[in-house]
Amino acid sequence: MTDLLQLKDKTIVIMGIANERSIGWGVAQSLYKVGAKLVFTYRQERSQKKLLKLLEKNEFEAELVVECDVNNDESISNAFKQIGEKVGTIHGVVHSIAFAHAADLKGDFINTSREGYAFAQDTSAYSLIAVAREAKPYMTEGGSIIGMSYLGAQRVIPEYKVMGIAKSALETTVKYLASDLGPDNIRVNAISAGPIRTLAAKGIPSFNDILNEVKETAPLRRNVTQEDVGDMTLAMMSHLSRGVTGEIIYVDSGYNIMA
Ligand code: NAD
Repeated sequence: MTDLLQLKDKTIVIMGIANERSIGWGVAQSLYKVGAKLVFTYRQERSQKKLLKLLEKNEFEAELVVECDVNNDESISNAFKQIGEKVGTIHGVVHSIAFAHAADLKGDFINTSREGYAFAQDTSAYSLIAVAREAKPYMTEGGSIIGMSYLGAQRVIPEYKVMGIAKSALETTVKYLASDLGPDNIRVNAISAGPIRTLAAKGIPSFNDILNEVKETAPLRRNVTQEDVGDMTLAMMSHLSRGVTGEIIYVDSGYNIMA
């Protein structure tokens, strides 16, 4: 199986693990099992400590753990320089990052602030472009880049508001990047995950209602887990998905197909 995947000893950068509930942590577990070399990025010192503890507790040997604040071009550039110097070649990048101000997730969508809109876009969508640009010089053997999206990009999920717009931008960004990077054999896709209780999800009001709705009405009659998303990310990083780029892949128990 591992040979089919062609991920053993490949270097994958995972961005956006806050704690063991993070989707990025599910991804890390899936990739680690098949022998990928993992590089982790964190946003600030506080998250570094948490991440290092998590790695130690789970006996994960990281190739490198490096700071990267995606709101800051210099930070992204420095991070990828450090990664490139340490590992040489990068084969994959998992962008599992999003943020919006809590104020913009409450109240009426029409009251979204200009600054809050721009901040959500910058952190959650533009950052994928900046990350891809800095990773590209090290992706000399081709590879795969994955972003994490949500159904609120395509449909009105009333609680999702400004983040829905950011995810729409992210999904379209994936397509433009896929077109740009395809000639270098770098594939760019997004996974649209069903709702999962994580730190980021805490900012979404009535998140329990969203979880219940999926459980009751999705074809698989259950919510998805970090591991479900981790395994699909593994597939999208692997040789098995070599012909797929510019796609939004739903890992949501089929919820998105229902009327
Ligand atoms: P999480 O809070 O565990 O992870 C979000 C990560 O983004 C955190 O590690 C945080 O530090 C990081 N981050 C925020 N701003 C950053 C910045 N400026 N620079 C660097 N890192 C920054 O939550 P999660 O649910 O695991 O979210 C991961 C991704 O999955 C996000 O894109 C999210 O929108 C997406 N997603 C989540 C769900 C869900 O229900 N949880 C569903 C679909 C998609």
